Amino acid sequence: MVSRIAGFFRRNDMDPDCTEARESSSDFLDEDLDESMASRISEHLGRCGPCNSFIQTMKATVALLRATPQEKAPPNFAERLKKRIEED
Ligand SMILES: [Zn+2]
Repeated sequence: MVSRIAGFFRRNDMDPDCTEARESSSDFLDEDLDESMASRISEHLGRCGPCNSFIQTMKATVALLRATPQEKAPPNFAERLKKRIEED
């Protein structure tokens, strides 16, 4: 489910490390990465503000979605989330 959200934020002009961090974000949040990958991502998040806020926002969003009984996010949910991230 998280990877579906991550797809909204994929860009072509990003640092390869950022791309990797963001593409791995769903697995990272699910604690689904092997140890070396997880530590690479953590390390990247420690020095990259935009990726860090990306992950934090996604984490909060996922927690919210999991806590909400509804199956679907509101129709404009992705747009709102994207806007919020781009404003950071
Ligand atoms: Zn980054």
